[in-house]
Amino acid sequence: MKEVRILDTWNPLAGPLNIFGPCSAESQEQMLETARSLKETGIPFVFRAGLWKPRTRPGTFEGNGLEALPWLIEVQKEVGLKVITEVATKEHVEACLKAGVDMLWIGARTTANPFSIQELADALKGVEIPVLIKNPIHPDLSLWIGALERISGAGIKSLAAIHRGFHHYDNRPYRNRPDWEMPIELKSRFPNLPIICDISHIGGTPELLPMIAQRAFDLNMDGLLIESHRSPKDALSDAQQQITPNDLKQLYNSLRKPDERILDAEFRDELAELRKQIDGIDASLIELLAERMRIVHGIGVQKRERGVTIFQLERWREIMENYMVRGRKSGLTDGFIRKVLEAIHLESIDIQQHAMHQVSESKA
Ligand code: PEP
Ligand code: MN
Repeated sequence: MKEVRILDTWNPLAGPLNIFGPCSAESQEQMLETARSLKETGIPFVFRAGLWKPRTRPGTFEGNGLEALPWLIEVQKEVGLKVITEVATKEHVEACLKAGVDMLWIGARTTANPFSIQELADALKGVEIPVLIKNPIHPDLSLWIGALERISGAGIKSLAAIHRGFHHYDNRPYRNRPDWEMPIELKSRFPNLPIICDISHIGGTPELLPMIAQRAFDLNMDGLLIESHRSPKDALSDAQQQITPNDLKQLYNSLRKPDERILDAEFRDELAELRKQIDGIDASLIELLAERMRIVHGIGVQKRERGVTIFQLERWREIMENYMVRGRKSGLTDGFIRKVLEAIHLESIDIQQHAMHQVSESKA
């Protein structure tokens, strides 16, 4: 794979990079009223509204398109906010650049299509504007990184990612399952890349928003995207997940923010101590796994000599069942135990296969 190079990112705001605003730009009045109420919350944010709405199914509101662009600029000028909208084609990019939109985001359906991303990258060549890239609809980290690479390859220096959850066959209780390991992995590969959590499209319903938002801040994400409408029940798109500016203020102020905790020196010491304990446990886990795999290797050699197959279903079932019971008793979830045991089992099969191969080669 070609070397991943994401240029320096630029944090356009001091403090968290929040994005608040309605799902869609419905009317000039709706935009101005929502923007003013959001500004009154006192929370730093960039104002969002979709002009072109990529709806999965036809027959629903698809946005007011170009007609709504001046409404967004009106919010920028009259209310004094930075504004952002979604672009999916080069025509969208050109129109937004001409109008002076401050930032652009690329939606989940577009990120999933490298042709569209390349078209956007070509339209952005030589331009200086922050671009935020949502994860693709399905959990494919390479597509997400590929989109970041293509846009960064066009020379865009101010890049951020937006985590909006992933589509699975069964997403309950979410609208899009968060699969937190995906943004965590992205952050570990690109520590300087800001990641904003779009709690509205993950949750799909106001009740889930506080829990998702707190989780995002606990994972040190760089800001939240929250859809907010002056009258959610009347919204033309995503009515079921939008909240009023007032509810947004209450929600946001009820969260524990990452920077608040970092300031607490006593907590930092406590954390350092606990991390030391975890490091010790991890080191023992590695030693134990290595020890286990040495024994597995020995068993592989024995199995070869006695002509026994590597994979023995009964034994595997027994291990799983025993450890699930044991795990449950110790407060570990079945899903976690299953994942760990499966990883250990697969590695053991590989090692045994290798052991058998080595023996058969040495006997040849
Ligand atoms: C949106 O932000 O309104 C939107 C359409 O989101 P996504 O691309 O995440 O579905
Ligand atoms: Mn929406």
